[in-house]
Amino acid sequence: MTSACKTDIKSLVFSELQEQLRDLGEPSYRAGQIADWLYKKRIDTIDKMTNLSQALRRRLSETFTLGGIDLVRVLGASDTTRKFLFRLADGNLIESVLIPASPALYGGKSDRRTICVSTQVGCAYGCKFCASGLEGFARNLSASEIVDQFIAVESETSEKIDNVVFMGMGEPLANLEKVLRAIRIMNAEWGLGVGARHITISTSGLAPQIRKLADEALQIRLAVSLHGATDEVRNRIMPINRRYNIEILLSACDYYTAHKKQRLTFEYILIADVNDSDEQARLLSRHAQRLSAKVNLIPYNSVSGLPWARPSKERQEKFLAILRVRGIPATLRREKGHDIDAACGQLRLQTQREQIAKT
Ligand code: SAH
Ligand code: SF4
Repeated sequence: MTSACKTDIKSLVFSELQEQLRDLGEPSYRAGQIADWLYKKRIDTIDKMTNLSQALRRRLSETFTLGGIDLVRVLGASDTTRKFLFRLADGNLIESVLIPASPALYGGKSDRRTICVSTQVGCAYGCKFCASGLEGFARNLSASEIVDQFIAVESETSEKIDNVVFMGMGEPLANLEKVLRAIRIMNAEWGLGVGARHITISTSGLAPQIRKLADEALQIRLAVSLHGATDEVRNRIMPINRRYNIEILLSACDYYTAHKKQRLTFEYILIADVNDSDEQARLLSRHAQRLSAKVNLIPYNSVSGLPWARPSKERQEKFLAILRVRGIPATLRREKGHDIDAACGQLRLQTQREQIAKT
């Protein structure tokens, strides 16, 4: 059997694994043994599942693939943000970011390690400030390619990851089925054991999918990339706003908060002379009040080839103060060393450009 016909075992949830094993005539407790090898011991070949008979290992190898992604490059030191560039089986490149001792930005406990995972190769949404959208969209990641980013980073660093944020390359809600599968595997006791409250999805504002996510039983967190408090500003930098404008987006957020216990977070990149006026801050406060949302202000990371810049420190602080005085729980990212802190998508782009330059 060619690998194209085989099942990707790390994309299966437990009940599906049990079912597949039943089809192979195996007792259901085998699913527990196999999940243990995959997610606790994290072996890289089925042959290493040594408490299974050789015959069964052979049959499993004929039925399943183990996926796996190859680490190409790591940037950054262990006490700073580190970036990991991976090559997928089909040659596509994706990246993950490991953030140490992250402040409690999305409501999780502070002082914990956070991984930022990618959900797509490239992105179709083309936000004007973002590196991920620059080269367009290639494809969705499978659930196992998302789960493998977590496993590969833990194994490379020998550090335990506490939080997962879906803020890497791609729009998670445009790949919702695979993302939810990956979250179920990450969240499960039989899987990676990350608490739902330690998992955050970020979206540029796919209103119908926000409603779908609200209907899911998972208590994960949601961050909405607002980046503009009026349609005029949002239309300028986020094409998605022409499909789902601010009112449509906020009413989907109303629906979400009515169904979930956690507060929602608005992410707001500060871009000089685009969305950083006092007026935008006042309107943003109103939106945050309506939803009892928190606001994370993120000074823009410049992307080579794009014209945008971050506002001065004073402007950033003023914007923050306008939110705070209105009682909005708001944070401003103030860390140093932005060269490596650059948003997801940039390392991949750089590597691709280098590869193109070499050919
Ligand atoms: N597609 C989703 C998730 C991935 S982007 C989304 O847009 O929310 C994750 C976050 O990084 C988003 O808030 C995005 O706006 C932000 N981002 C993208 N490019 C950035 C840059 N150059 N500087 C700072 N933040 C950036
Ligand atoms: Fe895609 Fe998010 Fe980047 Fe927009 S900000 S292009 S939605 S990854």
